[in-house]
Amino acid sequence: MSTPVLTAVAWPYANGPRHIGHVSGFGVPSDVFSRYMRMAGHRVLMVSGTDEHGTPISVQADKENLTARELADKYNRVIAEDLQGLGLSYDLFTRTTTGNHYKVVQDLFMALWRNGYIVPKTQMGAISPSTGRTLPDRYIEGTCPICGYDGARGDQCDNCGNQLDPADLINPKSRINGETPKFVETEHLFLDLPAFTETLGSWLSTRTEWRPNVLKFSQNLLDDLRPRAMTRDLDWGVPVPLDGWRDAPMKRFYVWFDAVIGYLSASVEWARRTGDADAWKEFWTPDAQGYYFMGKDNIVFHSLIWPALLLGQNGAGDKGGEPGAFGTLNLPTEVVSSEFLTMSGSKFSTSRGTVIYVRDFLRDFGPDTLRYFISVAGPENQDTDFTWEEFVRRTNFELANEWGNLVNRSVSMAHKNVGAIPKPTALTGEDIALREQARAAFGVVGDNLRRSRFKAAASEAMRVVSAANKYLSDQEPWKRKDDPERRDTILHTALQVVSDANTLLTPFLPHAAQKVHEALGGTGVWSAQPRIDEVTDLDVPERAYPILTGDYAAEQAKWESVDIEVGRPLAKPSPLFAKLDAELGDTGPEWAPIAP
Ligand SMILES: [Zn+2]
Repeated sequence: MSTPVLTAVAWPYANGPRHIGHVSGFGVPSDVFSRYMRMAGHRVLMVSGTDEHGTPISVQADKENLTARELADKYNRVIAEDLQGLGLSYDLFTRTTTGNHYKVVQDLFMALWRNGYIVPKTQMGAISPSTGRTLPDRYIEGTCPICGYDGARGDQCDNCGNQLDPADLINPKSRINGETPKFVETEHLFLDLPAFTETLGSWLSTRTEWRPNVLKFSQNLLDDLRPRAMTRDLDWGVPVPLDGWRDAPMKRFYVWFDAVIGYLSASVEWARRTGDADAWKEFWTPDAQGYYFMGKDNIVFHSLIWPALLLGQNGAGDKGGEPGAFGTLNLPTEVVSSEFLTMSGSKFSTSRGTVIYVRDFLRDFGPDTLRYFISVAGPENQDTDFTWEEFVRRTNFELANEWGNLVNRSVSMAHKNVGAIPKPTALTGEDIALREQARAAFGVVGDNLRRSRFKAAASEAMRVVSAANKYLSDQEPWKRKDDPERRDTILHTALQVVSDANTLLTPFLPHAAQKVHEALGGTGVWSAQPRIDEVTDLDVPERAYPILTGDYAAEQAKWESVDIEVGRPLAKPSPLFAKLDAELGDTGPEWAPIAP
């Protein structure tokens, strides 16, 4: 049965290039899932983009002597190119600085406002005593009142990750001239989260399929929901569409509020670009399914805050209300969070120098080795160390020796002896057993992929590969010169299982899968890849930007065993995966990491 499936992928922050820890959390899992769901016959809409507002963008822009917009332009492109290189099959990868995004954010805000879920509150804000002007939060630094870190900023502590108020900082100082800011009363808007406690609680109690840690974590936070600041004294963000706010240069939506609405705005932009402006709706009605992919530090935004915004827009919190401009929007079906990929026990960190950029990795090792490593050995259930030793072992023993070698020797022997896919005659028990094992794997692997159990899925697919290798070693077709009928039957069986295993591995290894498809004599697009289009902003025609998109409906890969075609010509295959130098496992590559 075909269901509309929204794959909502966490938005990478555009203040620098992304490292392999980032893409192990949101990137590869969401793509493996989406590729499987398409192959299984569902209509999938996979959207995301770069998150480009907020203080860290402004801080980094200051460092690089760029405007915030110039900085966002730069890293939006770098990130889009890296994600394309990894083969992430977005229907639309856009950004939060588009005219469309601004409009969707403001429309959604207006629904919350009308339904009474926004509360104005006066708090203390900073001004510069020497100029009398508002000091944006990012220009105030001091000691974090929670963890004691002495470089905390006015809106957030980078050490403990807590959201702060400039007035909470101990020893606040202006980063512009070192003076102590003066605090005066300033008005901000707050989301009335407590008004959703009950609705969120009963909704969460229906989410029994979620990973238990995600559900428990979210339910524990329910008792302590407080109004959450959604505006900030800041000059880089989406303006607030209310009289008295609209033109205020230092009042903008907080970045968390605009970024999380990106899932909806990207869906709307995708629809507008297809020429059917309503096409997004089928992916957002309560009949659709919405899967959200992220690292664990983002769970709360997807399991509580985004659902609260959706409920408020729908008019379904304690205060009731009417659905806003978007009608009744669907809440997340599942929140799929990954743990952290670490290096020597620590989080990847640009500042500490323990970082592997996606771009460096792709240049030297290509996309599929990384996709495979993340899927089979990544941080699905617990923080997991990336080691070069393990990467080399997985690549050499599993991809090159097991899978690459199976493809290579079966196709080579058939090419050499027959020149085409051989014709089978009487099947033995061993032939039938192997074919049955491959066929049965579609159910098991597919079920695991649907539930985002990538390790189990990849391991099960590789079990078919191992069984086929053992079958070839046992049957020894190379010793059957005197019995070509039996030899051809063995080779036919092996090639059929190569074809099945290739289908099972396509979500993980889409680039290699295309090569195997061709090695088996296939033509056309087996697994489609994303491309970058340069487009004009739909609402601000003087702006242009790159998007990721693709024609995934054109791909041939379907989640089923397809009988190979006897007599189809075969060419001599080339190796599927290059073996890595074992020394790489001891030392890692000698890189001068590029910081684009
Ligand atoms: Zn702190």
